Amino acid sequence: MITPLSSDWLIAPIVLPTPFPVGDVNVYLYRGQDRLTLFDAGVKTDQAWDALVEQIRELGYEIRDIGRIVLTHHHFDHIGLLGRLVRESRAEVWAHPETLLQIQYHYGYDASHTAYYRGLLREFGVPESWIETFLERREVHRQFLDVCTVDRALYEHDSFDGFRVVHVPGHSPTDTLYLHESGGFTVTGDHIIQGVNPNPIVRRPLPGQERQPSLIQYQQSLLRTRYLPLGKCYPGHGQPFSNHIEVVDHILERQEKRNEKVLNALGQEAQTPWMVAQRMYGNMSAGDFIFCVSVAIGHLELLEHRGVLRCWRDHHGVLWYQRKNAGIRHAFIIPETETTRESVQ
Ligand SMILES: [Zn+2]
Repeated sequence: MITPLSSDWLIAPIVLPTPFPVGDVNVYLYRGQDRLTLFDAGVKTDQAWDALVEQIRELGYEIRDIGRIVLTHHHFDHIGLLGRLVRESRAEVWAHPETLLQIQYHYGYDASHTAYYRGLLREFGVPESWIETFLERREVHRQFLDVCTVDRALYEHDSFDGFRVVHVPGHSPTDTLYLHESGGFTVTGDHIIQGVNPNPIVRRPLPGQERQPSLIQYQQSLLRTRYLPLGKCYPGHGQPFSNHIEVVDHILERQEKRNEKVLNALGQEAQTPWMVAQRMYGNMSAGDFIFCVSVAIGHLELLEHRGVLRCWRDHHGVLWYQRKNAGIRHAFIIPETETTRESVQ
């Protein structure tokens, strides 16, 4: 249930269910001067669609009244109903200029996608059996995608209907804030969420680009966000909040604590990102190891960037990290056999 609003409401939260561990996702209906705008499009399930239709009706509108859908980023819990919404409302879709390419790159599942992730995870020292399981599980996401298009790219400093566009890459490369200065509020997507430390997941760079050290990029964006006049923040998950400086500081503090955990896991040895993830998280599952490895590589890259660690590539192309002041000591790698490979599957 959404909180009843007075008749002069400007922006209204709509909470939609998802079948994922993340729980509900928020979209927002905005009633500005221009046209009725929906921020984000939830997950592609009938339950989410029914919840959206019902809550928009409670606000006095129908799906067909939506004239514009604006995206906070391209992750599939925020774009799922886009195709259906566009078909039923003929609304325009406005988003970060990289959105379509990122969707294609993240969810393409073609041979180049598979080859990229296989190569990347090998660089991190992930065993082959885990890599194959990861690639198979990614296929499941296909059912939550729909054909969509973007009608207008929103660049940094663009403005529309009271909002200023601010790009804050990190959690995802398309993360965008929509800052409504006169209304004193901002639609923040998953960039900052109260009580959550969003960790960037390793991702494939666009053609011709290098892979970004995404945690470093995220910290740079957080430090910029900290000084923006965001006012009340409307996030992609959880409750709205008005203390965004505290929320940013809390995320940065938790990242520093994680740095310590990574250094403890590393000890004096040279280790791969996979080994660090294993030491930090113990028993990882096929469903969550990518998050654990992403935490490990994110912090290893951050610590290397700060000059604490050094990194090199062995003759198999695998990345190793070690404290700069440590002697050369490799952790022992147990070679993977056919038996262990099959037992994991
Ligand atoms: Zn999300």
